[in-house]
Amino acid sequence: MKNGKALMDKILSVEGLRKEFGAVSAVDGVSFDVGPGEIVGLLGPNGAGKTTTITMILGVLEPTVGQVRIEGRERMNFAAVYTPLPGNLTVTENLRVFGLIYGVDDLSARIEALVREFDLGRYADTKAGHLSSGEQTRLCLAKAMLNSPRLLLLDEPTASLDPSVAREIRAKIKAFVAGGTSGVLWTSHNMHEVEEVCDRVLFLSHGKILLQGDPRTLPGQHGHKTLEDLFVAVAREPLSYEG
Ligand code: ATP
Repeated sequence: MKNGKALMDKILSVEGLRKEFGAVSAVDGVSFDVGPGEIVGLLGPNGAGKTTTITMILGVLEPTVGQVRIEGRERMNFAAVYTPLPGNLTVTENLRVFGLIYGVDDLSARIEALVREFDLGRYADTKAGHLSSGEQTRLCLAKAMLNSPRLLLLDEPTASLDPSVAREIRAKIKAFVAGGTSGVLWTSHNMHEVEEVCDRVLFLSHGKILLQGDPRTLPGQHGHKTLEDLFVAVAREPLSYEG
């Protein structure tokens, strides 16, 4: 086996990542990876450092210390409610602009397929700024799928979706990842969703990964019935879970 093989098997590798804002260590020495065909959940209470971690992976924020390695950075994409798309462009115009930036082949057909897949047909000529928050989320996800990303970063992708649409979106993303070439890093505060979607979870607290494992077996290993019970226990008493 070639030496480079282990690295190639990972789409994302994060090593010793740290971000300090003045005296606050928002991310405090985090290491993990995401492989192809894998959905990894990044969990943790408000302020744990999830968004800061994602922003460093995106390259928007410079780490204080640490390394982020991404295989094929040009095929990464991202969706989050805090980065809405330009509100003065229509749904189709937004997808066209991003598709051109990404250099997507056969762009018109790709846009048509995504508009259908994310049920945006009725809004194709509506300005993004006039969409409801759930519709905007669907547009952000369609935009994130434009370049068939190898690494997809999703920061609370279903937070503003009604339960029926959220279920459809989870199924679409699971099906996309099941193709075996892409991986997802997914943040969510919905532990039922995490159990359903994630192959592996990382529990972040005060910028450190305290626990990680299979969301279906991890609670039992720590004496809890559900992932939500474990989440609450870790959030309340992080020190008792620290390595
Ligand atoms: P949430 O679940 O609320 O979205 P999070 O886990 O995404 O939380 P972050 O947004 O990463 O948390 O924030 C981690 C910590 O870093 C918080 O204490 C936050 O106040 C702090 N922080 C984030 N960005 C900055 C900044 N630019 N300047 C100073 N402090 C910051």
